[in-house]
Amino acid sequence: METRLAELRQPVLDRATTWPYKDGELGSFAYQRYDHPLAAESERVLGDLEGGRALLFSCGMAAISGLVLAFCKPGDAVAVPFGAYVSTSHLISDELSRFGLRLVEFDQTGPPPEEAAFVWLEPCSNPMLSFPDLDDSIARAHERGALVAVDATMLTPVLLRPLEHAADFSVHSATKLLGGHHDLVLGVASCARDEDAERLFQVRRLFGLIGSPDPAWLLLRSLKTLPLRVERSSATALELARQLQDHPAVESVNYPGLGDAVAARYVHAFGPLLSFVVRGGAAAAEALERSCELIENATSFGGARSTIESRSRWEGDRVPPALLRLSAGLEDAGELWSDLERALASL
Ligand code: PLP
Repeated sequence: METRLAELRQPVLDRATTWPYKDGELGSFAYQRYDHPLAAESERVLGDLEGGRALLFSCGMAAISGLVLAFCKPGDAVAVPFGAYVSTSHLISDELSRFGLRLVEFDQTGPPPEEAAFVWLEPCSNPMLSFPDLDDSIARAHERGALVAVDATMLTPVLLRPLEHAADFSVHSATKLLGGHHDLVLGVASCARDEDAERLFQVRRLFGLIGSPDPAWLLLRSLKTLPLRVERSSATALELARQLQDHPAVESVNYPGLGDAVAARYVHAFGPLLSFVVRGGAAAAEALERSCELIENATSFGGARSTIESRSRWEGDRVPPALLRLSAGLEDAGELWSDLERALASL
């Protein structure tokens, strides 16, 4: 890892919205909506990790929206994986369709749709945990002239650097593992090419999508411990996935660490998120999420505290009614399993 994260010095929290011209000339910063010192420092660190030009956004959805607004045009088909983050699909189908974009959903474990002008990949997908063959999918999309963005929120650049696999863009909800403490909302998009970063910068400026100084300061605090947190929560998730798989109240478990050979070609660990289906339908899933005590019954993932929730409340029939999504945090793995085992026994 080029940047030695633990050694990063925490910068001053500069909340200025405007900076004076120098002899009438623009300095490094002029107006916070364009750029500010904490965005620039976050982008330096993240760009170094990703091997590209990073831009900070107000949240993951702002980064995703910025990319679509910058690089898609009316008539384009945008391909988004089934079982991936639901709002990426909704952004295209419910909002940007009014501007002539078309959503095509596809199974990312196979090739991307030929008609797509812009392809999203999401390893490991939220909440179904599928994993694409990145090199093959990206090469196929490029052969047809499509652009490819990889949402690597679940893995972070500690485990996967999509630009090294020829993706055009890498994107993250920094609200999750990069932030890691459930106390900030931010997004980041990194570009393989400088000219794309310039274009995205212009879109961010005009649509007002930049992340603010306070969460950027917290993000820089968090990045120092990122590798430790990613490795620890991934190891715990794998342990819990294995234990869940053997439990009689559990019908199925989704986690690439349980033998996904394609995923294992790309990463040595699989992130904090897993999902599983309990026997007994939606009522059983709802009872289980409420019975957990150490694991918080809340949405989101990638924080120090483990979280669990039934996903159908958000995604309706896009997911199995008894699907629970669990994010392993930094607690003791044995205590987390005891909490789950007790909750499963009460079903
Ligand atoms: N990408 C993925 C994979 C996500 O899970 C999420 C949010 O859950 C987002 C993007 C959007 O991020 P944010 O909530 O920071 O806008």
